[in-house]
Amino acid sequence: MSSSTVITNIATLVTNDPSSGWGDSPLGLIHDAAVVIDGDRVAWTGESSKAPATDNRVDAGGRAVLPGFVDSHSHLVFAGDRTQEFNARMSGRSYTAGGIRTTVAATRAASDAELEANLTHYLAEALRQGTTTFETKSGYGLTVEDESRALRIAARHTEEVTYLGAHIVSPDADDPAAYVALVTGEMLDACAPHARWIDVFCEKGAFDGDQARAVLTAGKAKGLHPRIHANQLSYGPGVQLAVELDAASADHCTHLTDADVDALASGRTVATLLPGAEFSTRAQWPDARRLLDAGVTVALSTDCNPGSSFTSSVPFCIALAVRDMGMTPDEAVWSATAGGAAALRRDDIGRLRPGARADLTLLDAPSHVHLAYRPGVPLVTGVWRRGARVV
Ligand SMILES: [Zn+2]
Repeated sequence: MSSSTVITNIATLVTNDPSSGWGDSPLGLIHDAAVVIDGDRVAWTGESSKAPATDNRVDAGGRAVLPGFVDSHSHLVFAGDRTQEFNARMSGRSYTAGGIRTTVAATRAASDAELEANLTHYLAEALRQGTTTFETKSGYGLTVEDESRALRIAARHTEEVTYLGAHIVSPDADDPAAYVALVTGEMLDACAPHARWIDVFCEKGAFDGDQARAVLTAGKAKGLHPRIHANQLSYGPGVQLAVELDAASADHCTHLTDADVDALASGRTVATLLPGAEFSTRAQWPDARRLLDAGVTVALSTDCNPGSSFTSSVPFCIALAVRDMGMTPDEAVWSATAGGAAALRRDDIGRLRPGARADLTLLDAPSHVHLAYRPGVPLVTGVWRRGARVV
């Protein structure tokens, strides 16, 4: 039998359920609130004074509670380090897709145990900062065996596993066409059983629009759902391809034409913005304001990887989005919770309403706005995942 817990005396509760909150904010805010957890689910939300009786009681002490962050884009199965590359870049060298090869070499050389220990380390780091769901990808193996082992390791830790054999053309491949044939053939056959998603880096120096289409179409035929790295370093066909193929998400979306924005607004594809990448490469920020004003659904994620965005901190990305991408604090918090869930086509996470998974973050602050108002401060002081307190 499951036991029930009420978290009470919450100054600000973010539900992301407008029907249960006050006012017209999409955050569905409730003040002087309580939330009841029964087993691994949310059973009730509302005003503290009306909370039903439960087995256990936690006093939030006038702090804020929000859904656990949903980090819908990370690359955590890797080995090695690219400190020198970052240092050189901050001394004036520019970022290209080629740096990925450094991590490929280190990842191939690592044992399964080393890769899993590294993954576990960064997951724990993310959890302490409030991330309760994360997606992660292969893409640093680029052989049949190395890609499939990355996915097997990832699948032990999350159900949101993405096959990214098409990260860059493998340095071992005879030519790009031969590598695409491998990615859509033997490698796909080995990887599909361990993944939910298929992804491709559609970019100059990686894969062009025709190659990206071939990769995603082959994945769909094997039951994988598409998502795509699109329009990060330059304009390109990725975003419109994503919408055409009904990809769950087009990720990066930094260089967009009006037609790209219109396509996103007309389809179900979420625009996932990854400001850690622009921060770590000193690149142009994606224009979140333009997307939001056009009616596009926007998610915010870390893109955590050792090359171009080595942060596991969603709060950091929220602060960047508010400072540099034109988002309000409410929009950024929504995008990092409900938006991330939308980018994974999930409605059981990213919201606190009866029946949702009991994934919650308690802040040492009276309001979610403090995530942007007090950047760099470790505000996450409690985390519940599937109803169990883990931080
Ligand atoms: Zn990425």
